[in-house]
Amino acid sequence: SSYFANVPQAPADGILKLSVLSRADTNSTKVDLGVGAYRDDSGKPWVLPVVRKAEQQLAADPQANHEYLGVGGLPALTQGAQKLIFGADSEAIKQQRVYSIQTISGTGANMVAAVFLKQFKQPADAAVYISKPTWGNHRSIFETAGHVVREYRYCNYTTLGLDIQGMLDDLRAAPRGQIILLHACAHNPTGIDPTTEQWQQIADVMQERSHFPLFDCAYQGFATGDVTRDAYAIRLFVSRGFELLVAQSFAKNMGLYGERTGCLHAVTALPAVLPQVSSQLNRLSRATISTAPAYGAKIAGTVLQDAELYEEWLGSMEMMSRRIKKMRNLLRDKLVALGTPGSWDHVSQQIGMFSFTGLSKQKVDRLREEYHLYMTDDGRISVAGLNSGNIDYVAKAIDAVVR
Ligand code: PLP
Repeated sequence: SSYFANVPQAPADGILKLSVLSRADTNSTKVDLGVGAYRDDSGKPWVLPVVRKAEQQLAADPQANHEYLGVGGLPALTQGAQKLIFGADSEAIKQQRVYSIQTISGTGANMVAAVFLKQFKQPADAAVYISKPTWGNHRSIFETAGHVVREYRYCNYTTLGLDIQGMLDDLRAAPRGQIILLHACAHNPTGIDPTTEQWQQIADVMQERSHFPLFDCAYQGFATGDVTRDAYAIRLFVSRGFELLVAQSFAKNMGLYGERTGCLHAVTALPAVLPQVSSQLNRLSRATISTAPAYGAKIAGTVLQDAELYEEWLGSMEMMSRRIKKMRNLLRDKLVALGTPGSWDHVSQQIGMFSFTGLSKQKVDRLREEYHLYMTDDGRISVAGLNSGNIDYVAKAIDAVVR
């Protein structure tokens, strides 16, 4: 008998399962549109030139060492990240109402937020509301931290656009003071974002119902190519006087995926409560990771603090988002040219790394089995995996299974 005999098998993670299948597929026509990571036009991972430059600076520094970071993380990172999210001229920052702590990328920021809210949420029985659908890990993170997780409507599965009425109705119908998890931009998995007017409607309802916003910001700069536009929703909520948390990742926009670089930001209404909040976040971080990883933080901190590198980084994000938009339009145009049944405008209208194609699970299975084309079961493709070498093949394969 085993001490572990009562441990039930955990459900398989869809994305991880997909990458195992894809890795095992050696067919030369294989196209992997599963993983949410940027690829260049030859299908290769892309190290941003500013990241290379920052790495070279770090390597050349004779004072460099591998000491632990302080408990809040690297100030060059957390302070730069704070300005990136809230704006360099943010009133909330000036009024000392913002605390930022370094985390294990966006996932760790979500988890620190989840544990913090579990301990201190008001009311204590508030649930966490996630969009239907959302990033697969959200439910797991918030349930693991002990929250009840509920859903609000988000995607209109017929038009593949935003179900704004359903979303507002669900936020209105929820008991007062719930925790609402919002994607700041480039919604994963749908690529559907509210318009600026719709964000204002969402803020109105959340204010009416005294809900608490938790923003997940994993794609700033990736959605529109402009970090300010992509921070619109967060800055709107801050300007409306909300208290909130923001989980921020540098995985995609700086290409630091495996270096696990991110931050959690807390905005309070009063400067007086900030030390309470920061002391608890520091304590939770100390209990779980002790101190945050240094390497990615030093790279991102260097880029954020150096005016020249920062400008170059903005250009790289603009370039990545432009390539993705180009691939969206090309895929739509090719499907239209092939006369593929259905409307494909949603592919070019959606935003960010992903597109929710509307392909059924059965068609997704056929694409994988017959065409070596990999996407998640819900029909989500990572548009960054498309390039001039595979787009014709992908369009023809989709056309074949849709007919
Ligand atoms: N949040 C969302 C919505 C995401 O899509 C992702 C990554 O796919 C993350 C958070 C976290 O990513 P990471 O932990 O790599 O920063």
